[in-house]
Amino acid sequence: MPEILHRARAALTTAEVDRQVRRLYYLAYRVEPIGQMLANPQANAATVAYAMARIPRALSAARRLLALPGVAGHEETAYARSLLNAAEQQLNAPTTRLLIIANAAREAAAQADAADDDVRVVVFRDIEERCRYLVDAARVEPVLARRGWSGHDRAASDRLQQWAARWGLGADDDGPAQEAGAVHPEVDAELVRQAAERAATRARCAAGIRCTETGCLTYGAIKVTLPGAWLCASCIAVVNARLAARGYAPDTVRPLEGGIPDDARYIVTLYNASGRGACTIECDTPQRAQFIAETERPFNNTGYEIEVPAPPRN
Ligand SMILES: [Zn+2]
Repeated sequence: MPEILHRARAALTTAEVDRQVRRLYYLAYRVEPIGQMLANPQANAATVAYAMARIPRALSAARRLLALPGVAGHEETAYARSLLNAAEQQLNAPTTRLLIIANAAREAAAQADAADDDVRVVVFRDIEERCRYLVDAARVEPVLARRGWSGHDRAASDRLQQWAARWGLGADDDGPAQEAGAVHPEVDAELVRQAAERAATRARCAAGIRCTETGCLTYGAIKVTLPGAWLCASCIAVVNARLAARGYAPDTVRPLEGGIPDDARYIVTLYNASGRGACTIECDTPQRAQFIAETERPFNNTGYEIEVPAPPRN
């Protein structure tokens, strides 16, 4: 073969290998952040499912490229390969398993909550919290002195996965979590105490919304003409007397005219009483609103306010 043809063919091959290496980088750069999603302790079910579908597809496409002549040995391939390996390791890490369990536990807790199954609510929430804590602990960031899991964390992860499996969470057959009301494994004393506390709170809230006057323990208070305030009959008199002493009209605070419609929504605002942040939860009944107000604690120091939005004016 003439020399010039040899060289032309070699140049063509080099160009082709370069093109495949670029495709490999394209995959590697795309898959790297997807792997990172599985390092986020707050990753939800949709995110985890997305990453678990996308990473294997990208890895098999990468393997096909690496099998082409010249690609695996190309000098720039090593870095792309390190990105792909990182995503693969993240996919197969026990933390991915823990995220699956955490999200299954979150869903199961919501179902148990709807069924008033307090033991399951506290158990499933506890499992979710411990899973996400361990996913967070697995992060490696030398700058922040984060070195990943200790041997203790590894053992805790194994025990937690076994415990979750006993409750039907994250089982390999992907079956549903244990149903509310079914016989369940023995629960430790602290969780039993928390479940009993929820049950007691629910019983207390059966009378309705708690009077917002400081120190008053009456439930079944009435919405009054004062934003955010719900008062029992005796506190309406107390508040009016206090206002009258400051020169206000004696009936400044009155029950809301017309009462609250049956189909009203109750908006519970949970706020951080010692910092920034708030969230709202909408409820169908005053009982549920008061129960949420007393049991949900998104902040260390959570305050609450219950409002009924005025019906839209036509
Ligand atoms: Zn009162």
